[in-house]
Amino acid sequence: MKKIFLCFFFSVFTLITFSQKADQPADNAWESIYRGSSPKINDLVHTRLAVNFDFDKQWMNGEEWVTLQPHFYPTDSLTLDAKGMEIKKIALIKGKSELPLQFSYDSMQLRITLDKTYKRNEKYTIYISYISKPNELKLEGSSAITEAKGLYFINPKGETDVHTEIWTQGETESNSAWFPTIDKPNQKTTQEIYMTVPSKYVTLSNGLLVNQKKNADGTRTDYWKMDLPNSPYLFFMGIGDYVIVKDKYKKMDVNYYVEKEYAPVAKKIFGETPAMIAFYEKITGVPYVWPKYDQIVGREYVSGAMENTTATLHQDGAYQNARQLVDGNAWESVIAHELFHHWFGDLVTTESWSNITLNESFANYSEYLWDEYRHGKDAADDHAYEDMQGYLMSKSDDKALVRFHYKNKEDVFDAVSYNKGGRILNMLRNYVGDSAFFKSLNRYLTLHKFQSAEAQQLRLAFEEVTGQDLNWFWNQWYYGSGQPTLDINYNYDNGKARVIVDQTQATGKIFKLPVAIDVYSEGAHKKRYQVWLENKSDTFYFASDKKPSFINVDADKVLLAIKTDHKSAEEFEQQYKYAPNYLDRREALEYFADNKLSTLSIGLNDKYSGLRLFTLEKLEEASSFHVPSVLSIIERMADKDPDKKVQAKALELLAKLADNKYQPLFEKYINDSSYSVSGAALLGLTNLEPSQAYTLAKKYSNDALGKLGEVVAEIISKNGSEDDFNFLLTQFKNEPFSENKIKSAFTFARYLLKIKNTDNIRKGVDEIMKVRNQVPDQYKEFIDPGFKQAFNMMSNVQMTNGNSELANYIKGLLK
Ligand SMILES: [Zn+2]
Repeated sequence: MKKIFLCFFFSVFTLITFSQKADQPADNAWESIYRGSSPKINDLVHTRLAVNFDFDKQWMNGEEWVTLQPHFYPTDSLTLDAKGMEIKKIALIKGKSELPLQFSYDSMQLRITLDKTYKRNEKYTIYISYISKPNELKLEGSSAITEAKGLYFINPKGETDVHTEIWTQGETESNSAWFPTIDKPNQKTTQEIYMTVPSKYVTLSNGLLVNQKKNADGTRTDYWKMDLPNSPYLFFMGIGDYVIVKDKYKKMDVNYYVEKEYAPVAKKIFGETPAMIAFYEKITGVPYVWPKYDQIVGREYVSGAMENTTATLHQDGAYQNARQLVDGNAWESVIAHELFHHWFGDLVTTESWSNITLNESFANYSEYLWDEYRHGKDAADDHAYEDMQGYLMSKSDDKALVRFHYKNKEDVFDAVSYNKGGRILNMLRNYVGDSAFFKSLNRYLTLHKFQSAEAQQLRLAFEEVTGQDLNWFWNQWYYGSGQPTLDINYNYDNGKARVIVDQTQATGKIFKLPVAIDVYSEGAHKKRYQVWLENKSDTFYFASDKKPSFINVDADKVLLAIKTDHKSAEEFEQQYKYAPNYLDRREALEYFADNKLSTLSIGLNDKYSGLRLFTLEKLEEASSFHVPSVLSIIERMADKDPDKKVQAKALELLAKLADNKYQPLFEKYINDSSYSVSGAALLGLTNLEPSQAYTLAKKYSNDALGKLGEVVAEIISKNGSEDDFNFLLTQFKNEPFSENKIKSAFTFARYLLKIKNTDNIRKGVDEIMKVRNQVPDQYKEFIDPGFKQAFNMMSNVQMTNGNSELANYIKGLLK
């Protein structure tokens, strides 16, 4: 699964959150509960389903034939997860007849008494007739849940303009809301699904579409079959009026299910998939085992994306038009992530949610591997650094990667399992070397294919390949928590260079870290030393005739650590010039920026676009781009930089100067294919002519997404009237869910404060509430204070205007 991590909340809302948290009584009972893997009493063998849908009631009528066998010990009973269903009939299949079975049901689990005691390897098949009612599903008496319904009907009656769809979301244990099963990741089953749908719709499921049959009543039954075992949480159904854009990897079908409007760009969005399959096959040495690979986009999807076996579901953030794609494919990493799960997650599956690192850390790291291969090491390191910051900001120092204690199983899908886990794999790769790393992955995948595994089995595969005992690494990084805080100092005397590294983390725990140190004597000339950090303070001496020009600790820049590196400006200049990695250069630029040094501008000529962008941002923060020598470089970048985002940022800086000499430049780029570039140009023009801002924004509002959309919406919200409501609502609705959309919610809320039409205000508020509800549960405590404040302000305005009903409605949205 790809979660959306919303980092900025931590900075914006930290204060509010801390004061709130203090008021709540502590519920720490979960800390003493060990979450191991689920015991296997019966094993799933095969699951056959026949389903049809009641779009009006949002129900699914289901029939299931599930085949099982005792795992080891004989048993005369079977417990199946079946959430919120109406159970009509349960029977044992005996040849051609059915033998009704006794059962009890508590709306969560079915407890079935079998007709006799079954022994190991003795298979039996149970027939269940049922109705799945996902919208009536209640968990332990709580109110209806939004995030674990399993089966989702989107605009089923066609009452709104949202694309009508049905899709499912299984992870963690929600697929048992649409078919009775043993809903645990350590179970695997082959499957068949017969889906009967109105014939105007296409269907998607796991495995191959074997045949389609037209029915007399205007429906069609599609028969999907998956011959390879996979876990119940990976089962999927998708239904809707999609266009299927066909692609191939060798002879295998690789298809993209998109709404009609996106069919022309589907290959621009998803078209790297075959190359990704080839790449992942090559590095793991394990072929893609599944019979096909499809990807589908779901509206109002509750997560980022999900790796259902051969049928990945993406949220609508995947939808990007041709102009958005000019700025780069924002969804490429997610596509890579879900695909790599088809090795780590779908082929070898975590045995428990506690071991989710075996799925998610690899999927996270696959983003790095793909970036490195396709876009170069700088781009991959940039992505990794952002991920590391995301982890550090999440303040998860007390959470181990393998998590045997958690409150809710959804909690393990966090920045530790994803961001930190990915960095740990990168350190492991650096330590054992590329060849051993990928051989070990191959060993692990080969040994455990079509089975579940735990983190120790990964260690054993690495030990087998490398011949090294790796308990220290696993104990420290997989079963231990936190990360080192390093303080690095240097000095030189009597032909000896000295490096002192202190571990200053507050926990007092000392990390054992293999580290490369490069000692630079002149220019790029360097000598490498491999050392171990393993004490609270470690000192290393290097013989050197003269003072080294600089010393690079963690020369490969792989450590997961918080670091203070006491270098001089001259040493950082040398580091920028001669050390090879992205982070070497970024650290130097950060030092120049923090110390307000003019040397910062060397970053404007960096070979990597991300560092040129970073430098522009730092110059903007410091308002130090007016110097003629710097300005002339920015002017050139605003016209010529090959990267659209860099060019846009340069234009944005020039826009701030409101200097008429840039008018021709802004006019040249106002119609650029990139929304970022045209948005920045529009900002430039409106800054030159504020009285024309509204007219200009209206002029470009017909096709305005991304940065251009933001600029247009901001201007129209500020200067517009009641008449602009529909435009602003649509603009807001069409923005895919992201951190930016949450910011847009507040811009939109400010506009709603100004208008009078109560119907519009209600519509607007409802749309804002929808965005709030899309925020994953674990972040709601961070964003709710902001939303509450906005709603209170709106409610107060309506109260003053005498609309008490609307005022109370708005106030009541977030109690
Ligand atoms: Zn994932």
